[in-house]
Amino acid sequence: MNHTPITIREHGLFAQQQLIQSLALDSHEAQLEAQLLLQTALKVERAWLIAHEIDALGANNHAEFQTLLLRRLQGEPIAYILGYREFYGLKLCVTPDTLIPRPDTETLVEAALAKIPLHTKVEILDLGTGAGAIALAVADHRPHAQLMAIDASENALTIAQKNAKNLNIANVQFLHSDWFSTINPKRFDLILSNPPYIEASDTHLQQGDLRFEPITALASGPDGLDDIRRIVQDCLVYLKPQGWLMLEHGFNQAQAVADLMADSGLVDIATIKDLGGNDRVTIAKNPLIVSTHWH
Ligand code: GLN
Repeated sequence: MNHTPITIREHGLFAQQQLIQSLALDSHEAQLEAQLLLQTALKVERAWLIAHEIDALGANNHAEFQTLLLRRLQGEPIAYILGYREFYGLKLCVTPDTLIPRPDTETLVEAALAKIPLHTKVEILDLGTGAGAIALAVADHRPHAQLMAIDASENALTIAQKNAKNLNIANVQFLHSDWFSTINPKRFDLILSNPPYIEASDTHLQQGDLRFEPITALASGPDGLDDIRRIVQDCLVYLKPQGWLMLEHGFNQAQAVADLMADSGLVDIATIKDLGGNDRVTIAKNPLIVSTHWH
């Protein structure tokens, strides 16, 4: 562009070029982000933006757009700037207190839904719910299920509760807990978790979106498995007989997670790939037929 941008469309194209240069986004992604930032600055829907693309961008809107664009050019994740991210068809509020839900995690939701009959009152636990993505997606698709969603971060729980309210999802109960530590003796049909699983020394933690996300939701000790070990070790007393544990993990952790599950006495261990073809979720079952302790 060789003149100062005036119209909404010109501002969008100019921003698109800056996004390509600064963040190495591909041209389609950069266009989408420029449009989303314009929509946020102007507080309009996409259809309005397209219909008004040859209008001039007013001074106030221009200033607001520049502020948002600058934040993005400095690397802040688009989801935090917009304040939301779509996950499994749900629009979820996200803040720097919550991990930004990833498409990979939809694999875990699919695995859970496959085990839950539509009209049954199953009890499900989501460990480390963050913005509530997994619990809310499952609850939305299985209205008869009763979910408990825990997180060690009070701030994340506040966001998750806000999401449940905004989406009118009433079958999720939220609880402040460090993994199982404050959950009353109770057994679940399914325990789901997308725990932190990145190796603490992984250089990806200093790159891109991850720099802005809560480190407690990402990193988990030298091999990335500290939290998964805790969950797998403690899960049996919270699983009903024949109940399932389903964990998201790194693309190269499937064998280690399966070994931990086997060591704990879980059976029928299986790994599921994400849409990118990477090992992403490993599931395993409590072999007991009848429960010996609490129900
Ligand atoms: N899958 C995420 C990533 O690699 C990590 C999420 C997590 O640790 N649970 O960016």
